[in-house]
Amino acid sequence: MLRENLNEVEQRIEAACRRCGRSRSEVFLVAVSKTKPVEMLQEVYGEGVRDFGENKPQEIKEKYPQLPQDIKWHMIGHLQRNKIKYIIDKVCMIHSVDSLRLAEAIDEEAAKHGIVMPVLVEVNVAKEESKYGIMPEETEAFIRQLSTLQHICVQGLMTIAPFTENAEDNRVHFRNLKKLYVDIKAKNIDNVNMCNLSMGMTGDYEVAIEEGATMVRVGTGIFGERFYGSSQSR
Ligand SMILES: *Cc1c(COP(=O)(O)O)cnc(C)c1O
Repeated sequence: MLRENLNEVEQRIEAACRRCGRSRSEVFLVAVSKTKPVEMLQEVYGEGVRDFGENKPQEIKEKYPQLPQDIKWHMIGHLQRNKIKYIIDKVCMIHSVDSLRLAEAIDEEAAKHGIVMPVLVEVNVAKEESKYGIMPEETEAFIRQLSTLQHICVQGLMTIAPFTENAEDNRVHFRNLKKLYVDIKAKNIDNVNMCNLSMGMTGDYEVAIEEGATMVRVGTGIFGERFYGSSQSR
């Protein structure tokens, strides 16, 4: 089943690339494995996937020792400062930097490990009250603040677009984030390397690719529906 899901996602990514004249190699797939058991990750790993996305430090910490060492883990969820220590030496990128305090804390932990952590700035592109993320108009100033930190490197922007039945509704948000990304990239800020635009999930990754995503984060489309306890809705 997972192989078929993965094949379908792959075909849809290829078709979206073709529609907008992009090369498949410009789009990077992160398989979002949150809440899913290690056996399912192993199956997807067996199909050649090496990049997995998780939103809870504790889950990365638990899965990490049980899976092959060449997996690249992406931290994609809201991160609390006191949890950074669990993942700083395990993840290849943190997609969800949404405050200066968090960035400073990541910088501090990375310094302890003698590394530079690639990060993306999470932008609340649709200005939703319920969402984390920096407001679009504040993003450039925020990135300038982050650029002074020596042990993180800003590598682009990330967004979680509104939940919608119709992916086309999010096209405008993806387009706006792309524009913000291009504008900030053109400023050539020191210690900032704008090369990743992480946008698009199961419901809307094809539209996101058409609007310029370089990373799509697909969970349900690969692993199937997630079942939570009572505390979470999705
Ligand atoms: C869960 C999650 C995804 C994947 O969502 P699907 O709709 O299952 O593809 C992508 N990005 C983030 C930040 C998530 O938390």
